[in-house]
Amino acid sequence: MDKTIASMAKLNNGVEIPFLGLGVYQINPGAETEKAVRWALEAGCRHIDTAQFYGNEKSVGEAIRKSGIPREEIFVTTKVQNKNQGYDKTIATFHESLKKFGFNYIDLYLIHWPVENKRHDTWRAMEILLDEKKCRAVGVSNYTIRHLEELLDASSVIPVINQVEFHPFLYQKELLEFCRSNQIQMEAYSPLTQGRRLDDKTLVSIASKYSKTTAQILIRWALQHDIVVIPKSADKNHIEENAAVLDFNISDEDMQVLDSLDEDYRVCWNPTNVP
Ligand code: NDP
Repeated sequence: MDKTIASMAKLNNGVEIPFLGLGVYQINPGAETEKAVRWALEAGCRHIDTAQFYGNEKSVGEAIRKSGIPREEIFVTTKVQNKNQGYDKTIATFHESLKKFGFNYIDLYLIHWPVENKRHDTWRAMEILLDEKKCRAVGVSNYTIRHLEELLDASSVIPVINQVEFHPFLYQKELLEFCRSNQIQMEAYSPLTQGRRLDDKTLVSIASKYSKTTAQILIRWALQHDIVVIPKSADKNHIEENAAVLDFNISDEDMQVLDSLDEDYRVCWNPTNVP
């Protein structure tokens, strides 16, 4: 695999998304978010993942403007918050987000969570926003196979992405295969297990073999599975480290060892039982 920092995944509607992005969950709005985005852009990253729920869309927009990099060279994702789901609310809240960013379009708009009784109407609103070219692509997050099947049955617009928790300790192979066979790109959130498993013994031993950190191995593992990956960091050194994952290759054998770490371990909410 010869990915570079600029490598893109081609989505089912032809839009391209950089494989590697910066997640900004739990980064304070204002200076902290602006600095993180600036450092990621300086490290060559051109993809930022935020959400209405994170409260920092305005700071992401500011940081992008201040960078001087043309807006169209940076891929920005945001997500409709649960309490704003439903047809009318989604349309209204999307425009609020747009205003906060100070943009006239969003690259990727996601349903943050498959809220029961609302997700169908939310998706109808997403279709309209896409049709009006207010966003370049629409997708979902935290959808299980069941939620995806329901959506595919109801709509002719296939979500471009399913953003879910994904790392070797939660290697959701069945979901990955389902997404692949339906042209839905997988995107890994909490790829570093929010830092909780970075000292896992197997991971540490593989990292030392490649003279890399365990965080770099986790990001590289996702990339080698052709999964879009959005590690979060508010720390300059970590941001640079997380971008330095393109100059080595994990062997097939070690990829299998990493795959075998799966233990259905989650750091985020589990959508499995959402009706
Ligand atoms: P991650 O798995 O990315 O882990 C982030 C944690 O790892 C932070 O504590 C960070 O600390 C630390 N870290 C980052 N880089 C390194 C490094 N090189 N070495 C050591 N520690 C490091 O967690 P997130 O849950 O934030 O997931 C990433 C992104 O995914 C989010 O920011 C968000 O954009 C998205 N997401 C989406 C969800 C959804 O429901 N759709 C749910 C959760 C996340 P520090 O800042 O100090 O570097």
